[in-house]
Amino acid sequence: IVQMRGIVKRFGTTTVLDGIDLDVAQGEVVTLIGPSGAGKSTLLRCVNGLERITDGTIEVAGERLSYTEKSLNHLRARIGMVFQSFNLFPHMTVMENVAVAQREVLGRGKDQARSRGAELLERVGLGHKADAYPDNLSGGQQQRVAIARALAMDPAVMLFDEPTSALDPELVGEVLDVMRALADDGMTMMVVTHEMRFARRAADRVVLLADGGIAEQGPPEQVLDSPTSERGQAFLQQLA
Ligand code: ATP
Ligand code: MG
Repeated sequence: IVQMRGIVKRFGTTTVLDGIDLDVAQGEVVTLIGPSGAGKSTLLRCVNGLERITDGTIEVAGERLSYTEKSLNHLRARIGMVFQSFNLFPHMTVMENVAVAQREVLGRGKDQARSRGAELLERVGLGHKADAYPDNLSGGQQQRVAIARALAMDPAVMLFDEPTSALDPELVGEVLDVMRALADDGMTMMVVTHEMRFARRAADRVVLLADGGIAEQGPPEQVLDSPTSERGQAFLQQLA
């Protein structure tokens, strides 16, 4: 459902991605790992058009990404993205956060947006917090709202960039549990994470980025337990 061919991304003279080919199938969960600065965030940002690629092609749900406003708006309506920082609208309640884009982007009516919102808040375990404001929620709860908000667009694929890195350790599990349930439900996901537990339990495939390329990829056990590349071995050793 995501098809990347020959992706090159340069910032000035720095080449961050140097010819990446990566496909993600419908329902597949791909975890991206790799050293800091490897280009994991950049790759995700290229997928939803937040960064413009220098060379190569990206297709999402059969549509080739061009950088016209129309193409970008269309693309972003099909992709849910969850960042390290939750970026909820602080002046809106939880329900309003989950409903606003449904109304403004998808043109859903108020009742429809709220009923879909309620369903999704239930799904992330926060049905009882619909009328709360983000400030009054824990980080883990805020991140679960951010996930519900992204899901409200009925995305073809969900992108996660270190969704648990900003959380206190005791709050990480509740967010990973929600993500795992999503994965089990068949959501297509690309997840940048340092949580190897998540990679092991939820990922169909682990992709290790290093030096602008894919150093290693395969099923979690293969990549995490018996990496064959030097870069892969070095990275995983340093995690251990
Ligand atoms: P981390 O694990 O620390 O999040 P990462 O793998 O996500 O790292 P990126 O954030 O994608 O890495 O960055 C890859 C490289 O691109 C880094 O060297 C970074 O400095 C550079 N970079 C990222 N964004 C920009 C930008 N807007 N302008 C210039 N350089 C950038
Ligand atoms: Mg990053």
